[in-house]
Amino acid sequence: MPELPEAEVVRRQLHAAAAGATIDHIRVGREDIVRQGVESLSWYAGTRIAEVQRHGKSVVLVCERGAGKRVVVAELGMTGLLLFTREAIPSTKHVHMTMSLANGPQRTLRTLWYWNARRFGRLYLLDQKAWKAYRQRRFGRDPFTMTGDEFVDLIQSCRGRIKAALLNQHRIAGIGNIYANEALFRSGIHPYARGCRLSKRRLRGLFETMQRLLEEAIAMGGSSIRSFVAPDGTPGQFQSRHLVYQKTGARCPNVCGTRIQGLMDERSSFVCPTCQKR
Ligand SMILES: [Zn+2]
Repeated sequence: MPELPEAEVVRRQLHAAAAGATIDHIRVGREDIVRQGVESLSWYAGTRIAEVQRHGKSVVLVCERGAGKRVVVAELGMTGLLLFTREAIPSTKHVHMTMSLANGPQRTLRTLWYWNARRFGRLYLLDQKAWKAYRQRRFGRDPFTMTGDEFVDLIQSCRGRIKAALLNQHRIAGIGNIYANEALFRSGIHPYARGCRLSKRRLRGLFETMQRLLEEAIAMGGSSIRSFVAPDGTPGQFQSRHLVYQKTGARCPNVCGTRIQGLMDERSSFVCPTCQKR
């Protein structure tokens, strides 16, 4: 938490509010908040935000000054928030970055805060070369840009459990525990099924279900488990549509009568043993 839909909700709001704006000033709480590139901090003041991108669960501000281009990568991790609303900051203690943005002919100022409950934030200030290396190191394919055939090939090449393959950010970027559990339930696939043993037809079904699930979650502002809110302070609503996540002991929503089982593995799984097959 947050996962792809929440990061995408953040990206869309940020892009709408910040693309084209100039960074008036940028400040970090402590230098070790920035994991890489802190020495370039002063470069960013006066640059223009060309666009806001999402890669996996990270939100990326692309900044330009003449021909120069650098990025600010904000990983949301477990508890990270990017906020335009002061009231939405859970506590002032963990504000790791403050950015003041000037927008429009009036140069109206607006402040963007990066907050993370963890003592160390997850910010990276990268030039083009370091950004490329970061992307290659971190992210597998994006569920929205890969094809169904690519997804099938990727999963069928995994000898391990399908859920572990979905959570592996180096293979597919952005799926975390909530959406992996929900996608597998909606596709009738047990999280412990072996990727290499699943048919092309079932994996095609999973791929389409997963894309629909992610789109639906984005449209509802993401899932607000723990503290997630959008930059304007709005909580997500998609948690009301979760069918199995954290519902151990509840009746299966497919009305098969079975109770949802909680399995303890590296990340907890929520399964209907009747509807989900290996
Ligand atoms: Zn069931």
